[in-house]
Parts: sequence; C-alpha cells; structure tokens
Amino acid sequence: MENNSPNFIRHIIKEDLATGKHDHIITRFPPEPNGYLHIGHAKSIILNFGVADEFDGKTNLRFDDTNPLKEDVEYVNSIKEDVKWLGYDWDNLFFASNYFDEMYNRAALLIKKGLAYVDDLSADEIREYRGTLTEPGKDSPYRNRSVEENLDLFERMRNGEFGNGEKVLRAKIDMSSPNINLRDPVIYRIAHTTHHNTGDKWCIYPMYAFAHPLEDAIEGVTHSLCTLEFEDQRPLYDWVVANCEMESTPRQYEFGRLNLSNTVMSKRKLKQLVDEGFVDGWDDPRIPTISGLRRRGYTPEAIRAFCHEIGVSKADGTVDSQMLEHFVREDLKLKVPRTMAVIRPLKVVITNYPEGQVEMLEAEINPENPEMGTRQIPFSREIYIEQDDFMENPPKKYFRLFPGNEVRLKHAYFIKCEEVIKDENGNVVELRCTYDPETKSGTGFTGRKVKGTLHWVEASNAVPAEIRLYQPLIMDEEENEENTEKTFLERVNPNSLEILQGFVEPNMKDVKPQDKFQFFRHGYFNADPKHTNESHIVFNQIVELKSSFKL
Ligand code: ATP
Ligand code: MG
Ligand code: MG
Repeated sequence: MENNSPNFIRHIIKEDLATGKHDHIITRFPPEPNGYLHIGHAKSIILNFGVADEFDGKTNLRFDDTNPLKEDVEYVNSIKEDVKWLGYDWDNLFFASNYFDEMYNRAALLIKKGLAYVDDLSADEIREYRGTLTEPGKDSPYRNRSVEENLDLFERMRNGEFGNGEKVLRAKIDMSSPNINLRDPVIYRIAHTTHHNTGDKWCIYPMYAFAHPLEDAIEGVTHSLCTLEFEDQRPLYDWVVANCEMESTPRQYEFGRLNLSNTVMSKRKLKQLVDEGFVDGWDDPRIPTISGLRRRGYTPEAIRAFCHEIGVSKADGTVDSQMLEHFVREDLKLKVPRTMAVIRPLKVVITNYPEGQVEMLEAEINPENPEMGTRQIPFSREIYIEQDDFMENPPKKYFRLFPGNEVRLKHAYFIKCEEVIKDENGNVVELRCTYDPETKSGTGFTGRKVKGTLHWVEASNAVPAEIRLYQPLIMDEEENEENTEKTFLERVNPNSLEILQGFVEPNMKDVKPQDKFQFFRHGYFNADPKHTNESHIVFNQIVELKSSFKL
C-alpha cells in the first residue's frame, strides 16, 4: 500500500535490518476488546501494518484481553470487521488470554528469583506507600516474605482462596526509583469474574504492564509500537522481558496519539456517549469510531490518505477535523455519481408547460469524470426546488428565485417566478412560474443570461428520502472561553443532528445501503445502512461540498 508519510519508525526499522539486528520484522496491533475502534486506532493499524508490509514483515492482530471486567466478544467481532474494512489482513490472530498459563509460570519464575512478592496491602495503601515524584516510596511490610511463602500464596490466589483485592502480586524492583512505575508495580490481581475467552478458569489476571511485554516476546514481535503515554513504562517493559528470561527481546517505541478537534477519542468517553444515549450506538455517524465513519460514508481510502498525511511523530497533537473531511471529499470527487436532491422542498408549478407531459432530459453523471456517462431525468409541469432558493423580498445580490426573476434549472430550462401562493398563515407553499422552451439546456441558447442555477426534482416521480445533516457532536472550548471546566458531556452540541424529509431523483429508488452520491450544491451523502430498506431511504450527509480548509 502507498506510503510516503513522515515516519521516524520506518527509519529505526530500516536501520535494524541494515545492521543485522533483525532479519525480519514482526509488529502487532493490540486492541483491548473493551469498545469499538476509533480513528486513533486507525492511525496505529496503518502504522503497524504499513511498516511490516513495507519491509516484508508480519503483523499480528492481538486482543489484549487481560481485563475481563470490561471486555466482550461483541467488541472482538467489531474490531476484526473494522481492521478488515480498513484494508488490512493480519498474519496471525492471537488472544493474550491464551498466554495466561505462560504468564503465570513467568510470574512464578520471578518469585523464585526473589523478584516478586505477594502483598496484602489494599489498593489505597499501595498507592500511599508508593510515594510521589519528590518523595521516595516506602516498603510494604510484606515485601520480605520468603520465596516459599510467596509461591504458596500465589498458588492459593490462583486457586481462589482469596477475595477480590485481598492480595496482589508485585514485582520487587526499587521503591525509591525516580520512575514511579518501577516502585514495585502490581503485576497480578484477583478478579472473580468470567472471562470472555477463558471462562472461569482464572480468578487472577495479569496487569497490562506485565502482560504486554510478555505477549510481545511470546509472539516474537520485534517492534512494539505504542502511544506516548507508555514512554515511562518502557524501563518496566524491558525489566519484565529480561527478568522473565524471555527468548526474544521486543523493543517498545512510542509515537504521538491522534486527537481530532470537536470530538472525543477515547473508548471510555465514546462508551459513555453510547450508554447514556447521546448517540445512536457505536456506529452513530457523529462519532469518530470506524463503524461510525463507515456509516457516515467515509471510505477506507480517505482514512488511509488522512493517516498518511498526518504522519507519525514523537508528539501528541490535535488535528483539525476539517482535514479528515478534506480527504473524503478528495476520494469521492471522481468516484461517486452526482444527483439532485431537494432537502427542504417547495412546490413549483410551471403554468405554461403542457399538462400531463413528462419529458426526459439528459444529464452527465459526473462532469469531472465523463467516463461515468449520462443519466435521464424527467421534467414536467410540477417540480420541487429548495425553500432556501426563494425569497419574496430578497436583499441585493440575491440571484436565486424571487417574484419577477428568472433562474436556470440545472439540466433543464430557465424559469421565471410569476406568482407566490401562501397558506392562511402567510407561509409560502407554492410558486407559479413560466418556462422558456428556447432555453433548454444543451441547445446552446445564448439569448440572455441568468445568474442563478438551481437544482430541482420532478414532482410526480420524485422519490421521498430522509436526509440527515450533521454538525460536530462536541463543541471544543474556545481559547479564551471563561468557563473552561466543562466536561465533554456538557459540551455536547444539542443540534448535532437535523432530520429532514426531502426528495431525490427517481433513478435513486433502488439505492442500496452505503451507496454514495454528490448531491448538487449540498455535498456528499451516503445511504444509511441501518435505516435504508426497500420502502425507506435515509441519507447521511458525509461532508459539505466546500470548506475554507487548506492543506
Ligand atoms: P482508548 O484510550 O481510546 O481506549 P487505548 O489506547 O486504551 O485507547 P487500545 O485498545 O489499548 O486502546 O489500543 C490499541 C492500540 O491503538 C494501542 O497500541 C494504542 O496505543 C493505539 N491507539 C489508541 N488510541 C490511539 C490514538 N488516539 N492515536 C494513535 N494510536 C492509538
Ligand atoms: Mg489500552
Ligand atoms: Mg483504554
């Protein structure tokens, strides 16, 4: 797959191959199955699969399922689907939970070497004893238990003799290390709970900081790529690999997390939005999950191009969401058909057009990609235009329809507004216009010019469609906003979804879920896979046509 992004990891790998440190590359993508993947994960997927691919290496999809409390097979399945959809195929599929026996044995090895002990302190006490950045930690009173006692207690922990939180296993490293992660980190805890993969076989589970390096080493991973917040954990990672006497020595490298403006990018927060009903599930088109982006109408090509553009660096940063939008527009521009859709319909009757007559007009499917050919669209005496394209009392420089003004109907004729029909409340409900047959599109008419071009849909054949327009879900804090203490839930935009009942061209009646179009003047739209069926069409706005964003 294409790859020309700035990426310091590729240089490290190139160097490792050149010096003979490695003769093959193995990477892994290690999600915890505790939620759906988001576009931050896409960055990690594209990096891990991308570098392995570039150097003829292999990439494992490994479920880092060591915390049974939050994990579920629903998430396992969605993650597999999303990785595939993004265009990647793993060489091996692994579950960290399949290594529990080996991890247990490695922990016992640490005990035998005097490098781990069972501690009876509570979680709060352990935190308290750990000290701070300026204060060294304090030894637990249980730190000097004998090897025999530790082995016995650890086995009894495994056998279920103790309750949750009664005991933990800790690595015995250095209670005064300047790196707090090395102050005897907890490496096993008790959790009497059923695991999605191992069922009730285990009631003790390894902690991430212990499990992850072992998982990498067991699989022979050469380059373990993770996000920057794990930088301080690297010495512990190396300690575990070395002291557990693992045959293979993976190395951890950290890169910057992806954050996007006007949204949230953590599974915990996304889960909260889903669970508390702010959105319509993990695939809501307003959230940056892969499944949400897919349902919105994003393509894997657009997401990959975006990730290549942002590159990989040693710094976290927030990327403007408009940059992602730029890439989906670029991807769809030449690929998808254009069509006309009226999203806030206003009826127009063309009084001098023969009653009962319907003529077919020819229109190009994509003027930027003529190979896509042409389509036929009906025209008759009654059509719909946008309510927004008419004003009874327009300001200066308004070139759309108003009483007495003439505009062009895209692919059809000039029409002139002759009469405005209102209901008893004074709302405009219909326009009466006349058309000029001389002005038919494609005939080369040059007699006079008009400044406005409107889209429209012929009324008797129009297909009703539900149109969903989106605004950002989360409002970012302004630089100089006074109250900067708002939680993300308090910054949820109440107007992020607008649902309209509109009309689309008749040739759209057989639209399939996930079909994408450019609606003339409105932007790109995707047939919603959750709600579109044979009798009802729902379109999600993917992105508007234009933005002020410049790359
Ligand atoms: P979250 O905080 O959203 O739950 P996580 O890091 O806990 O994310 P994991 O399931 O552990 O989620 O992630 C799997 C991989 O994806 C990890 O290697 C992680 O570093 C990477 N990753 C997660 N979020 C991002 C992000 N925003 N940008 C880049 N990589 C990410
Ligand atoms: Mg994680
Ligand atoms: Mg997490």
